[in-house]
Amino acid sequence: MPNNTTATWHSTYLLGVALLLPIGTIVLVTYFFTRMNPFAPEIHSDPWAFSIIAFAGGLSALMATLLALFASATYRARVRFENEYRQLQRFLNEDVAKERTRLMRNLDLVSAAQQVSMAIKQEVDFERILSVVLEQLEHFARGDSIAVFTVDEAGVPLVRAERRNGVDRFPPALNPDSVECTLVEEAVRLGRQVRELNEKTGEFVMAVFFSTPDGARGVVRIARNVADEPDFQDEMPAYEQAVAQLVRMVSLGLKTASMWDRAIKDEKTGLYNANHYQDQMKRQVAIAQRSGASLSLIMMDIDKFKHINDTYGHLAGDKVLAEVSAILKREARESDTPYRYGGEELCIVCCGTTEEDAAKAAERIRYIIASTEFADDRGRLLPVSASFGVAEFHPSKMQTEKDLKEGCDRALYVAKEDGRNMVVVAEGNDKFRKIPRSGDPSKEVKRRMGLSGDNSPLDGDNDPAPLKDEKQASARASLGESIDKLATGLADVVGTDTGRARVVDSVVREAAEFLTRNLSARLGSTEEEPEPPKAKRKRTPKKKAAESPVVKTPETAATEPKPKRKPARRKKSKKAEEKEAAAAALKALQEEEDKALAADSDRLDYLTDEEAEQLSKGEAPSKRLRNVIRKPA
Ligand code: GH3
Ligand code: MG
Ligand code: MG
Repeated sequence: MPNNTTATWHSTYLLGVALLLPIGTIVLVTYFFTRMNPFAPEIHSDPWAFSIIAFAGGLSALMATLLALFASATYRARVRFENEYRQLQRFLNEDVAKERTRLMRNLDLVSAAQQVSMAIKQEVDFERILSVVLEQLEHFARGDSIAVFTVDEAGVPLVRAERRNGVDRFPPALNPDSVECTLVEEAVRLGRQVRELNEKTGEFVMAVFFSTPDGARGVVRIARNVADEPDFQDEMPAYEQAVAQLVRMVSLGLKTASMWDRAIKDEKTGLYNANHYQDQMKRQVAIAQRSGASLSLIMMDIDKFKHINDTYGHLAGDKVLAEVSAILKREARESDTPYRYGGEELCIVCCGTTEEDAAKAAERIRYIIASTEFADDRGRLLPVSASFGVAEFHPSKMQTEKDLKEGCDRALYVAKEDGRNMVVVAEGNDKFRKIPRSGDPSKEVKRRMGLSGDNSPLDGDNDPAPLKDEKQASARASLGESIDKLATGLADVVGTDTGRARVVDSVVREAAEFLTRNLSARLGSTEEEPEPPKAKRKRTPKKKAAESPVVKTPETAATEPKPKRKPARRKKSKKAEEKEAAAAALKALQEEEDKALAADSDRLDYLTDEEAEQLSKGEAPSKRLRNVIRKPA
């Protein structure tokens, strides 16, 4: 298209042509009519005719000039108009582009918010809700790493989820120290969004603080490398504003997730808790009853966990528990959900899975746990294995989820009784089936340490011995249940205090040993008698006496019937003398034992948590610490 200069040239050229063309024509025509016309020679000399022709010629020349002038002006005007139009169009396009970007951004915001609210409505799994939030944030903010923090009452941010390179991680797999949180703390302190752009590395970090009307507070941290985006600085304000807007929109999801999290998750392991298990199992059992879909349950219990706690400290125990839980989470399929059912009792609900497949999954997990190297903070290798009970829900034989759990528990007890580190399937009607151990036994850590599932010296075989007869297995399973009931009852009485819980453990263990001995005697099998672990200390009346006052809590003491006092006898009976002699013998035994215990600083049975921690850190045990074993917890 012509520009202004060419347009002027064109119009001048046109004007010239328009002027010259009619003038030349008039001169030629006039000359022709006046001088050379052969048909009208009289005109040659007629001045009127000449004047008329000359006037007509002049008039047409003038009109042509005017026309040319008009054409030139029109042309110039058109060019000017076109230029202006084009400029206007450019401005308009720019505005439209801006508006379009704004609209697209708003559309993205709405769609992100919609996805999140759909996830909140449909998903029961809080991690999936968080995943949707993270995915939307990643897509929208084009971040390389997105982390979500919740802020507690004291204003301390706690990382709940991170998406890096398209992979979501949640605690405990997500290590809080792996996420930089300086800017996050700054955002919490200021109560608004903050950002930082490192111009050298091109690293852009933004922390957006949000708080919901009902008091949930959190921060979203977005890190993005903008080294290859020279225009980023210009678009930064709009970007920041949009991201903050999105965070506000999805904060409902974040709030729901963190509240949901608290309600259904166990903090120590990151697994779902027992309450959530109950809710979900009721649903799953109802589905299985209605649709006939398979439903199986795997219960697992860490073997000799008390031994790990006592020998390596509670912190090491907690670490093992968290790592075993992480294995369960990692190994569970989409349709399997792991739960922490109780202390170190975990379970997996396998939807659409038969007992055969559940047993295979359990055996796979058993081998992974047995061959994983667990270590405490001091790098000491820990003897970790777990026993599994598996059962399938049969609508014809079972009514509620309790029936399924009962079958599973019985199978688990059989696994415990029959050597631990194994999977046992409950087949109904008091029938149990052991699953042969898979994998390379030489890779199992306990075996490498020279221990079997029972922590006793290995007998060398890999496959568990065949099940003892059904009657025995069933009797043992019900024994397990009795112990369970006893433990639950005692736990109810003494409450949740750690020290008291330990006393309960001891009492339950005593009871278990007593019942097992009795049962074995009743069943007439000496080989059944469980060998007490070699390191195990004999119980003394003094220790029991030390335990019992703790069991009698003020609450229970109030309700407990007072023992009837027998009338004092004047003379010591033979029985009393025997009693005294026994007490003296026990006292001697106890003194001997105390000496042995003072030398054995590794025993942590009756230490408080801090003391156990002190010992597990390798600090030299104080005299009090060594003697504390004699005091009640
Ligand atoms: P087994 O199951 O093989 O028969 O032996 P066990 O030693 O594991 O026996 P039991 O189930 O009776 O002991 C469970 C122990 O687990 C007792 C309790 O102190 C400990 N425990 C429960 N919850 C936790 C926890 O969260 N952390 C730690 N460190 N220990 C726990
Ligand atoms: Mg256990
Ligand atoms: Mg247990």
